[in-house]
Amino acid sequence: MSNHEKNHHQKMVEDFRKRFYISLIISVPVLILSPMIQQFLDYSFSFPGSNYLMFSFATLIFVYGGWPFLSGLYDELRQKQPGMMTLIALAISVAYFYSSAVVFGLEGRYFFWELATLILIMLLGHWIEMKSVMGASRALEELARLMPDQAHLVKDDEIVDVEIKELKVGDTILIRPGEKIPADGSIIEGSSYINESMLTGESEPVEKNEDDQVIGGSVNGDSSIKVEITSAGEDSYLSRVINLVEESQQDKSKTQGLADRAALWLTVIAISAGLITLFSWLLIGGRDLAFSIERMATVMVITCPHALGLAIPLVAAVSTTLSAQNGLLIRNRTAFENARKISTIIFDKTGTLTRGEFGVEEISSYHEDYSEDKIIQLAASLEQESEHPIARGIEDQAVEKEISLLQVKDFSAIQGKGVEGIIDQQKYLVVSPGYLDENKLELPAAYEKKSGPVTEVFLITEENIIGSIALADQIRDSSQATIEELHAKGISCWMLTGDNEQTAKYVSEQLGLDGYFAEVLPHQKQDKVKELQADGEFVAMTGDGVNDAPALAKADIGIAIGSGTDVAAETADIILVESDPRDVLSLIDFGQATYNKMIQNLIWATGYNAFAIPLAAGVLYNYGIMISPAVGAVLMSLSTVIVAINAKLLRVN
Ligand code: ADP
Ligand code: MG
Repeated sequence: MSNHEKNHHQKMVEDFRKRFYISLIISVPVLILSPMIQQFLDYSFSFPGSNYLMFSFATLIFVYGGWPFLSGLYDELRQKQPGMMTLIALAISVAYFYSSAVVFGLEGRYFFWELATLILIMLLGHWIEMKSVMGASRALEELARLMPDQAHLVKDDEIVDVEIKELKVGDTILIRPGEKIPADGSIIEGSSYINESMLTGESEPVEKNEDDQVIGGSVNGDSSIKVEITSAGEDSYLSRVINLVEESQQDKSKTQGLADRAALWLTVIAISAGLITLFSWLLIGGRDLAFSIERMATVMVITCPHALGLAIPLVAAVSTTLSAQNGLLIRNRTAFENARKISTIIFDKTGTLTRGEFGVEEISSYHEDYSEDKIIQLAASLEQESEHPIARGIEDQAVEKEISLLQVKDFSAIQGKGVEGIIDQQKYLVVSPGYLDENKLELPAAYEKKSGPVTEVFLITEENIIGSIALADQIRDSSQATIEELHAKGISCWMLTGDNEQTAKYVSEQLGLDGYFAEVLPHQKQDKVKELQADGEFVAMTGDGVNDAPALAKADIGIAIGSGTDVAAETADIILVESDPRDVLSLIDFGQATYNKMIQNLIWATGYNAFAIPLAAGVLYNYGIMISPAVGAVLMSLSTVIVAINAKLLRVN
């Protein structure tokens, strides 16, 4: 809930409380003067004009206590969305205007005490509901509270305490043991264990040394560290998470749409059931207008779809926040709630099933003018601007060998194939074996095929193959277990990679995948997703790279690896913050749990009507069972409170 909304809710809570107490006081004379109450308590009290006095007090209650509902009626009708307020307002208006007519001469009885108690209970109910709603949405506040209020700024060897909002990128801050980290940054002095559990769900504190990144909101362990800020305030990781959670709570999922439609239907049912009740009692039941009106009002009140309006948003509020705390960032709620339907999951290889941390294994030269170091120098220079994990591997090799890089002009990436650019007026490319095939470039006679699961790229000019670099990556520790558990759930697992057949086969066999496609280009990844969908599969795609984005967009559920590229993250429906494929399992379990909660809530919110409406209509009247409008209001509020508590009880597993 945003600050604005929170203040709004807080004001509403106070408004309902005030209206409740004032109406309670005005109700006392109405009750004392009411003939029904007098008969019930066996006393009689009246004086000339006492019914006009009762009428005046009742009018006060109707206008002042009933105001939230009457103005709600106006709003709902203006938006052409009749709902709860319409029903309550109709019920109290019928009671009020009928009784007033009796005061001024119509044959019948007063409904003033029913009117007063109904309004009182409605006010009380809304007051309590508002409070429980605020409780359920407090989860987001918990996230916001992870940020400390103050930071220790290091300024010319002096330490000054400043407000968080004064921090700027580039500032150095000191974080003492046990303190919360106030901004994102990298450690420039010291090392410590950092607890990120509230942000990523990773329960063990993580060791962080110089140059490692820390996230604002996590908790420093046992030693002091100095951190240079890389992002603060609105740009910080935590702020972005909070924004994301807020946004996803606002966007309406399919389940939400279902609830909205149900609420509209319930309103229609309430009004028709009310009218049917009225006329049945009048015409068939042979009762008087007073009795029939009371039944109608009760039916309308009890059918109020209030709980329904809250059933889904409350679960959404709790679940998006809990997910964020467990390392799942939800950008699209419908996709998240659909996670339970996944029948096939496709993983990208590099950076997803593997770490995406390439080490150079072997450098080969096929041209006498180019030494191995020269090959690395040219390749690393070209790769400077690439975001691909292979680029990082080659660059690291250059750093290790202390090779300086050259200037590159006209750099461009050939998606899924490699990179190109001009160095010293000569065009060079670093490309995949597939690119060589496509361009009919013959491998040199000296070329020896590498054995084992290596990824090989070639440094070429437009005419010649100059050299090759073989790199190796490692399978992530948790990939194996993830695949096993997905299989246990009956989900088939595939791999799509732009890498060569040999490596793809190796990884696929190691992990026991159901199949793989190697040497696929970005648009082919998307086509594979389409093919599987055409076979009736509900497909999730997990990837990290620019080349995965089209497939992520096409899949029923796109899942991005947190350490991957921004493009992947922005295309995906869900982001795995920890970059751990295993979190796909939490995603499925948690999506299921959330969906179940929503359905439970829908049942709580609507199902009770099946019993309550006939009771309210007076079907069991002949057996002495009947509900007054006030009891109807209690039941209606109760179902809302149950829905709020049920939402709050959502847990991961
Ligand atoms: P994956 O699908 O496994 O993530 P990509 O589709 O990103 O792999 O890359 C496919 C292949 O294209 C790589 O194995 C490599 O041969 C080549 N390639 C892509 N980007 C680069 C790059 N920046 N430098 C060199 N080769 C690249
Ligand atoms: Mg990749």
